[in-house]
Amino acid sequence: MKMHINGKSVEAYSGESFDIMNPATGEIIDRVPKGTENDAAMAVEAASSAFSGWASTSPQQRAGILYKAAGIVRQRKDELAVLLTREQGKPFAESKNEIEGFANVLEYYCGLASSFHGDFIPVPQNGYSFTIKKPLGVCAAIIPWNMPALIMAWKISPALIAGNTLVLKPASNTPLTNLTLASILSEAGLPPGVLNIVTGSGEVVGESLVKSPQVKKISFTGEARTGKRVAELAAGGMKRVTLELGGSDPMIVCDDANLETAVSGALRGRLYNCGQTCTAVKRLFVFESVAEGFIKKLEASIRNLRVGNGLHENIDMGPLNNCRQWEYIKELVADVEEKNEGRIVAGGRVPEGSAYSRGYFFEPTLVVDVPRESRLLKEEVFGPVLPVVQVKNLEEAIEEANNTCYGLGASIWTKNIDRVRTGCEQLNAGIIWVNQHLKVAPEAPFGGTGESGIGKENGPDALSEYLDLKTIMLKI
Ligand code: NAD
Repeated sequence: MKMHINGKSVEAYSGESFDIMNPATGEIIDRVPKGTENDAAMAVEAASSAFSGWASTSPQQRAGILYKAAGIVRQRKDELAVLLTREQGKPFAESKNEIEGFANVLEYYCGLASSFHGDFIPVPQNGYSFTIKKPLGVCAAIIPWNMPALIMAWKISPALIAGNTLVLKPASNTPLTNLTLASILSEAGLPPGVLNIVTGSGEVVGESLVKSPQVKKISFTGEARTGKRVAELAAGGMKRVTLELGGSDPMIVCDDANLETAVSGALRGRLYNCGQTCTAVKRLFVFESVAEGFIKKLEASIRNLRVGNGLHENIDMGPLNNCRQWEYIKELVADVEEKNEGRIVAGGRVPEGSAYSRGYFFEPTLVVDVPRESRLLKEEVFGPVLPVVQVKNLEEAIEEANNTCYGLGASIWTKNIDRVRTGCEQLNAGIIWVNQHLKVAPEAPFGGTGESGIGKENGPDALSEYLDLKTIMLKI
């Protein structure tokens, strides 16, 4: 595939390209242009030229185009889901969910098109004040490989409905679904230059976009370390930033929880997308009094899971997305064994057999008796490894849960309303789930505290992140 600049499919200025690989089979599925500073500059120029025309359309006209695009995405859902699985690795059913999620988010922001406006504010001494909301101009979106379609929707939908134009840089290993979705938006009538996609590395294309004087806002999703670099560069131009970064979500299972539901919640929460979800359950704290029974159930269920190519039937978990993640998980689990940082009771290995020989597969892994200083609890483990820690009570669970630099999500599993209230009040996280984990909705704001980032995606709050509030003071 080619890049998407000014409504056209284009090669990189340098003429160079790079491979996109299927992480389940090692097969090269496509090549995309290797963009550089020149391509980023061309895309910003296209977005800049398109801005005044797009900003002067009504929000309802913009919504008409986005709504049409959502319809085409729904019609082509299966084809898009196959493409997403081939480049990302997740099971086909998860890819279908993600493509539906893309359409849902687009449609949700279309619904907000008629309702965003400023306020009328009476002020003392015979005056009036009112506010108007204006788009910011050219925005840049930089996204990761774990949920490329959904995160694209989280960024482009509020940005475009608000009247901004955008340049998006996909992750280097998952640009194909993003490029296809951009061409669908063009087909639905999005004018040239309003949405541009530049493929290439973060260090070159990503940094060029962040540094460009014409770019007024950067919405970034990725690792905390990269987010800090983006924030530093953006500070030079005093640009607006939204930073959606890593997490190490705790899940607290109390002694009165429904253990069956908690077991399935833990497995889905940890292993969805092969554990590569920012809000995955990355640390599980269970009350000592129910730990033995809970861990037995967890162990039995995790052993039943089927790992394989996401396009094959009856698969619960696909491969990791890339070699770097695969090597990291292998090294981390080897470290657990070597340094006695817990007891592996299920999984812990690369599965054997010809079906697995060319992909980045790893068994779903359960580690118990994990010491507090273990890497499993200190680092953001982006893979299918679930560490379980026993705690005496809720007070200890919350103290341990909050012992992290992150603050993305957290869940508490209990039937006791007092415990629910305590968890919601005291857990340091941007989103708290009760008796569930992972659920997100376009209507509900999403984003973290601490090193998990700044700003919100989803809901009306995300729309505000793409609008400037201008205050008018009248003396009459
Ligand atoms: P990453 O930080 O390595 O890369 C993210 C994007 O930034 C990619 O497009 C990459 O090319 C680009 N990039 C890399 N270096 C850059 C630089 N110097 N300047 C500008 N852009 C640069 O992250 P990843 O490995 O792709 O994604 C996994 C991470 O994303 C995890 O930490 C995960 O928790 C996080 N994540 C967070 C959320 C959220 O909403 N909070 C959602 C999904 C993923």
